[in-house]
Amino acid sequence: MQAKYEPMQMTIGRAPTLPPLSLYFILILAWFRPAAGASLQAPPPKPNILLIVSDDQGYADAGFQGSKEIPTPNLDRLAKSGMHCTSGYVTHPFCSPTRAALLTGRYQQRFGHVYNPFYDPADAREGLPLGEKLLPEHLRGAGYATGWMGKWHLGATPEHAPEHRGFEEGFGFIGGGHHYFNWKPGKGEYNLPILRNGQEVEVPEHYTTRLGVEAANFEKRHADHPWFLYLAFNAPHMPHQPTPERIARFSHIQNRQRARYAAQISLMDDAIGEVLAALDASHQRERTLIFFFTDNGGPVNVGAVNTPLRGSKGDVFEGGIRVPYLVSWPGRIPAGSTYVQPVSSVDVFATALAVAGARMPTDKVYDSVNLLPHLNGENMSAPHERLFWRTGTGQLAAVRQGDWKLVRQENKPDELYNLATDISETKNLAGANPEKIHQLSLALDTWQKPLPPPAFIGTSRNEKPATTTATRPPTTPAR
Ligand code: CA
Repeated sequence: MQAKYEPMQMTIGRAPTLPPLSLYFILILAWFRPAAGASLQAPPPKPNILLIVSDDQGYADAGFQGSKEIPTPNLDRLAKSGMHCTSGYVTHPFCSPTRAALLTGRYQQRFGHVYNPFYDPADAREGLPLGEKLLPEHLRGAGYATGWMGKWHLGATPEHAPEHRGFEEGFGFIGGGHHYFNWKPGKGEYNLPILRNGQEVEVPEHYTTRLGVEAANFEKRHADHPWFLYLAFNAPHMPHQPTPERIARFSHIQNRQRARYAAQISLMDDAIGEVLAALDASHQRERTLIFFFTDNGGPVNVGAVNTPLRGSKGDVFEGGIRVPYLVSWPGRIPAGSTYVQPVSSVDVFATALAVAGARMPTDKVYDSVNLLPHLNGENMSAPHERLFWRTGTGQLAAVRQGDWKLVRQENKPDELYNLATDISETKNLAGANPEKIHQLSLALDTWQKPLPPPAFIGTSRNEKPATTTATRPPTTPAR
């Protein structure tokens, strides 16, 4: 028998009897009534986070860094849309350790990731230690789609693969470098398959160009919810293999190796243009926070690319660690602006978690700082009291505090530079400033003391003893 619907009568205290649906409506309104001054508007959507990293690009080799030799119109457009951090640093002067820090929010020395991993799919020691939780894992917990594209270089075993470190989607290669086209499977690390979500795919065009297409498709595919994309170009890293069409544009560069390197930057700039255009076309640009920097200083074998900085890839002089660095978020970070306080690649982590509404973990020591309050003027103090660098087990080390920088090279007296007046580190002021040397030396020693030994020896097994001149070659193979 079908029951006849009878509205339930509710009485609360001495309140008069009300029709039940009206009462429910009032109760719901009361429940959601905003606090005084609060808005009824829904919270703004979480922004997308796009991290673009180039590989071995010199400090001076972009238009927004002053280059007249290598046009980079798309990077220049990105610079005009946001903030140019003129004291932007990476945490290490070569590839893999920098990447380990930016994805963990910690100086990579804290977990012994101080070398490039040796490519060995069977050696679980060689890669970013599995006890570290990466940024995409945190962001997935905040509702983000996560993607990785390009160069991985954080371990080659299945456990180290990006899909096991928080990335839901991926397109790229696992090693530390790659041929840009016509690679031959079975011929070593630079000829590994290109993988999409772990499956080998054909890439007939220049690999750099394809990255732009894949990244643009990722953005459009996820336009209806927040996403994080780590777009790690291999360009302009060696082998320098641009297309014939592109190298023809660089006949004005007499050093032909440098011309090929320049053409690689140009191809990458085109791909970045494609990525930015896709954001515009899908109306996501206003809600996308973009970081761009290179992973280390330019190498010595492609000309004087770090002008006016001293040194190159592998050094803790500025030429090894100070990089082109941009942050862009229309409406949230002033367009066409400059920020002069030191910032670091490690700061991506905390900044990304903050904009995603995710909690900064407290289980370990984290070195990452949320840059947004500093970049938008809410916090006028420097993001970092000090920044530190160290290669290997301490062959090279440095600390920057304010304008002062101490450089330590094994078996040599500490050197002291004032970067405000001597960005090229040409005048060692140690003799005239014993107190400053003592202060910075103590800070560096204190920072180094608890660091563990290397978690793996990586490609250091192939190293020759380092020399200690400013033009010293990289301390690892050019990878
Ligand atoms: Ca690199």
